[in-house]
Amino acid sequence: NSVWAKVPLGPRDAILGVTEAFKADKNPKKINLGVGAYRDDKGKPYVLPSVQKAEQQIAKAGHDKEYLPITGLPEFVNAAIKLAYGEDSKPLKEGRIAATQTISGTGALRIGLDFMARFFPHKSIYLPDKTWANHAAIVKDCGLEVKHYKYYDPETVGVAFEGFKADVKAAPNGSAFLLHAAAFNPLGTDLTKEQWVELCQIFKEKNHFAFFDMAYQGFASGIFEDDAFPVRHFVEQGFPIALCQSFAKNMGLYGERVGAFSLVCADKEEKARVDSQLKILIRPMYSNPPVHGARLAAQILNSPELYKDWKVEVKGMADRIISMREALYDLLQNKYKTPGDWSHVKKQIGMFSYTGLKPEQVDALATHASIYLTRDGRISMAALNSSNLEYFAENVSKAVK
Ligand code: PLP
Repeated sequence: NSVWAKVPLGPRDAILGVTEAFKADKNPKKINLGVGAYRDDKGKPYVLPSVQKAEQQIAKAGHDKEYLPITGLPEFVNAAIKLAYGEDSKPLKEGRIAATQTISGTGALRIGLDFMARFFPHKSIYLPDKTWANHAAIVKDCGLEVKHYKYYDPETVGVAFEGFKADVKAAPNGSAFLLHAAAFNPLGTDLTKEQWVELCQIFKEKNHFAFFDMAYQGFASGIFEDDAFPVRHFVEQGFPIALCQSFAKNMGLYGERVGAFSLVCADKEEKARVDSQLKILIRPMYSNPPVHGARLAAQILNSPELYKDWKVEVKGMADRIISMREALYDLLQNKYKTPGDWSHVKKQIGMFSYTGLKPEQVDALATHASIYLTRDGRISMAALNSSNLEYFAENVSKAVK
């Protein structure tokens, strides 16, 4: 008669399931395409040289291990929002962006959506019809209702922009929409700049609220400014946006949990009120955030030399992924004459590719070739490299035929 006798067994996390199956497989050619973490061309995790240098500088500085303020390390938070909004951003210059350090991007979403649950007029938020699985879980845990907008077009394995716009127009005025700023996970397909501008116009007409998740700044194009375009455009147009940032992918700081949440406010007085509520929200949750990762990120963002190195390293990661896309397309389409049009693989951007592979084909890849991916057909492009690409393409082609 244990106290926990009635606790039901929950479903396994889809991605962790893939990793477990991969680990148990003895085939030396096995590939794990499930994880959303960058790998170098040897298939190894990558600690950025700029991060290694920052580690050394921090070690030398001999910091203490005192608590951070509730909203984190100010040097980090200020630099993070500068990276996202741009140094010429009007609300940034006017000191009206409320911001806090968070436990990476997930923590930013949690704080941001908790804030929405407390203070946003509608108790719901629209998510794209395909999105990072954790989005809906966080929204629900924060006590908000999940609504969906059209994003995915199965025909083109791309964006259903007409349907997206129709749903934005049909939503009640003043609704909140979660938007992926860049490198949409899982689809790998973002709106074009022209489409963002058009969407922004509709948001204006409808007085909607844009809640941005930017977990991949720099990962789509390799250029921070370009990936931040939607965020900056909405802000330039006068929107009071919310923004979640993560430094897991672009600095490779996955396990350090470095992120930020910010809200553009109308003026300094409003910012002070919002800041006070962010503190009230965070204090009973985890009191204050961890210091080490934020110090690393701050060191890189605030040192012109490290920042320059980091920019090159991010571009290097983005470019390696882009070259894998081109090579994979070429193998699938031209060398193996795989049935169907595979140009989406080349057109998509960021860490992931939504292949359009069916669940049975995904199962066949695991059974016959020890190639593991989630059953929705999403692959991490970063897990492909010059040694395993050919094997992967050959087997995808077989699975499709
Ligand atoms: N948002 C999206 C769309 C993601 O894909 C991820 C990670 O995969 C995150 C947020 C949060 O990641 P983290 O909490 O590791 O920063």
